[in-house]
Amino acid sequence: MKKYQIVCKKCGTVIDNFKEWFAINQKCPKCGSNHAEIEYTSDYSKLKDLYHDTPDSFWEYFDFLPLENRENIISYKEGAIPIEEWDFLEDYASRKYGINCKVYIYRNDLNGGTNTFKDVAASMAASVFKENGISKYCLASTGNTATAYSKYLTKAGIEFTVFVPNCVNQDTVEEIKSHHQHIVVSDGDYSYAKKLAAEFHKNNGVLISGGNIDPIRVEAKKTMVFEFMRQLGKMPDIYLQAVSGGTGPISIDKGVREIKNFYPEVKLPKMFLVQQDTCNPMVQGWNNAVKNGFPEGYEKDYPAIDNPQTKVSILSTGNPGMFPIVAPIVKKSNGTFLCVKESELLDYARMIKKERNIILGPASIVCFSGFFEALAQNKIENGQTVLINTGEGAARSKDFAQAI
Ligand SMILES: [Zn+2]
Repeated sequence: MKKYQIVCKKCGTVIDNFKEWFAINQKCPKCGSNHAEIEYTSDYSKLKDLYHDTPDSFWEYFDFLPLENRENIISYKEGAIPIEEWDFLEDYASRKYGINCKVYIYRNDLNGGTNTFKDVAASMAASVFKENGISKYCLASTGNTATAYSKYLTKAGIEFTVFVPNCVNQDTVEEIKSHHQHIVVSDGDYSYAKKLAAEFHKNNGVLISGGNIDPIRVEAKKTMVFEFMRQLGKMPDIYLQAVSGGTGPISIDKGVREIKNFYPEVKLPKMFLVQQDTCNPMVQGWNNAVKNGFPEGYEKDYPAIDNPQTKVSILSTGNPGMFPIVAPIVKKSNGTFLCVKESELLDYARMIKKERNIILGPASIVCFSGFFEALAQNKIENGQTVLINTGEGAARSKDFAQAI
């Protein structure tokens, strides 16, 4: 019996496996859509048994991941990262707002690959490519995916070319070069880097990333749902994440839908997605939809910001093509989009340094400051459990770390 199949989200056409999916250029042969999801024949009753283990990576959930043979796993111990309770945030909510809530931090800076939220996706991708004989790959990235994929694809012996926006920081460029992979620093913003990557793919026949809905990325990141269940024993009521493209919320939604028939207690948390005021097109699109009462087609109405002037290069998606997919998930979850001030990030980063003696990267701090914004907007209630997904450490943000 085959373990998994790929199903077109638009028309339901079934694609046998990744080998076929890559051969048809990652598009549905019937309707042309690139939005597909994985379905498994695995026994979901066995999933809960895994919650009692102490795994050293997300590959603990191998039976629910689209890889046939364990020998193809490329891993640096990523994904089974600790969830910590940060009581100084609980104290703050109680003292300042009289709200008693539980606050947990999902420590993506402790991932074994490149200390970011992207390590699980890179591990999944490198393993799937190895299994399916892919030797070359390319994508556009704002930074974290670029470094993670260079490290993991190098280990898998795959030639990798990455296109980055001109605002990318130098530490990221150096790290990719250290893996002897190819990096092209584009002459424009992230949208322009994406255009260059698409041309490279077309002209050279090199496989390209399927973007934020790429089933490889989504399947890796959906294991967050399993980890929340394993470590917290339940889903959080509120999930906070800084958002650039939106693979995180898309993946949590997929993970919940995948197992909720077997585990009805697994529910979609309220999604609170955070952007900094210097690049917040999703926030603007959302606020507009709220103001107009979510008219028909609201999800297709969002601004595009050319050359966003932000120092948080990881969160510099000015043209958020995923808004039509992400916004309905946020709406379904009764969540919201939150805007925080880039000018205040250093203060929040210093608070974490003082309270926990750790230094996180700027995108993590965007998410972290979203907690305070949510409190200020009365969006956290008594008795709720809040999970803050901090996406990255400060290893490739030396200037930011120095300023802290
Ligand atoms: Zn289709």
